[in-house]
Amino acid sequence: TLSDRLTSVLQNLRGKGRLSEADIDATAREIRVALLEADVALPVVRTFIAKVKERAKGSEVSQALNPAQQVVKIVNEELVGILGGETRRLNLAKNPPTVIMLAGLQGAGKTTLAGKLAKWLRGQGHTPMLVACDLQRPNAVTQLQVVGERAGVPVFAPEPGNGVGDPVDVARRGIDEAKRAQHDVVLVDTAGRLGVDEEMMRQAIDIRAAVQPDEVLFVVDAMIGQDAVNTATAFRDGVGFTGVVLTKLDGDARGGAALSVREVTGQPILFASNGEKLEDFDVFHPDRMASRILGMGDMLTLIEQAEQAFDADQAEAAAVKMGSGQLTLEDFLEQMLTLRKMGPIANLLGMLPGAGQMKDQLANLDEKHLDRVQAIIRGMTPAERDDPKIINASRRLRIANGSGVRVSEVNDLVNRFFEARKMMSQMAGRFGLPGGKNTRK
Ligand code: GDP
Ligand code: MG
Repeated sequence: TLSDRLTSVLQNLRGKGRLSEADIDATAREIRVALLEADVALPVVRTFIAKVKERAKGSEVSQALNPAQQVVKIVNEELVGILGGETRRLNLAKNPPTVIMLAGLQGAGKTTLAGKLAKWLRGQGHTPMLVACDLQRPNAVTQLQVVGERAGVPVFAPEPGNGVGDPVDVARRGIDEAKRAQHDVVLVDTAGRLGVDEEMMRQAIDIRAAVQPDEVLFVVDAMIGQDAVNTATAFRDGVGFTGVVLTKLDGDARGGAALSVREVTGQPILFASNGEKLEDFDVFHPDRMASRILGMGDMLTLIEQAEQAFDADQAEAAAVKMGSGQLTLEDFLEQMLTLRKMGPIANLLGMLPGAGQMKDQLANLDEKHLDRVQAIIRGMTPAERDDPKIINASRRLRIANGSGVRVSEVNDLVNRFFEARKMMSQMAGRFGLPGGKNTRK
């Protein structure tokens, strides 16, 4: 991951006052690779790197984070900024109905999105209606009708058997019908082509002119990768749009398209689609997308929470201990108490990329169980907490009796402690926490 790479590039930096030019250049190279791997378009990568370099030059080296983490934090903040900072809401018309037109290439997910948006809007107390203006493909109208039924909203479609209808006319009549039946939002589904195509664009422009939508949402498949820039530019210059929806985020794309589309068109990303079911849909979260592009899970959330819960020195001391395999049961207890302040332990561990194994190991550490763990550790002598290896069978029996648990629970805890200590020191090595290098096993 980017974090690994930056860690090795910036290994010798701790303690210096500022990042040097050479350090920044080396860092920039790694960020560039990470962004290209996430399929961000090259020109967008260039602009982005320039911004990050500028910011890194001016920044002091933090005491709480190592330089690699600090650069990752800057990169992340810039990414979140470009991706839109706060999520933008839909523009609703002062005089209903609000008209929302969907545009995009064939297969981008427009029709599916129509159903998702309709369902989501219904959940917010709106009364949406769908209008079927894709008369290109034989099954398109039926597909929208099926989707509408699942979402529990009516669909306006041309009467069958009248030959190929005119999509502009259908759009107009659809809006009239929505007014008559007092639907407060109208979603207009349109036809796409496999590539950008003049006729498709012409039709979209005509529909836009006819219905005067409050929003035109450009629907784009997140898997599109490098081509996102060309497609987005063509739609911007053709029909034009006021917002973006990213689809198929459930796939393995790292989401570079989000950054490309956003940077090139300047339009906000409003929603994210992540599956075929109508519920697989959410408003767009710039911060989540940023960490996905960086490929680091929610490592940054973890950094943030750690910064809040510890002061910098404590964080440093604890990290060194954890990373060097010198953790004692006393520390373990302390850490556990800190972690409990930070929220359910499993959530926290789930944020670490690749922490699945450790998560399983600690899955039993639910909150009630933690109380018992605390009791057991408190039933130990300081010598035992300091060096758990001395805890033999007779000591285990004494501890169990003293803290009111079964011997097997004491055994469990001690075994799990040794496993956790080993794993923390392995993870420290991977994530560049201080102390990770001189692992004592
Ligand atoms: P349209 O041509 O733009 O209307 O695209 P459709 O809505 O017909 O979607 C094309 C295909 O992509 C369909 O098979 C959908 O089920 C699928 N699809 C749409 N959105 C998503 C998504 O977010 N995730 C996944 N996995 N599939 C999607
Ligand atoms: Mg469609």
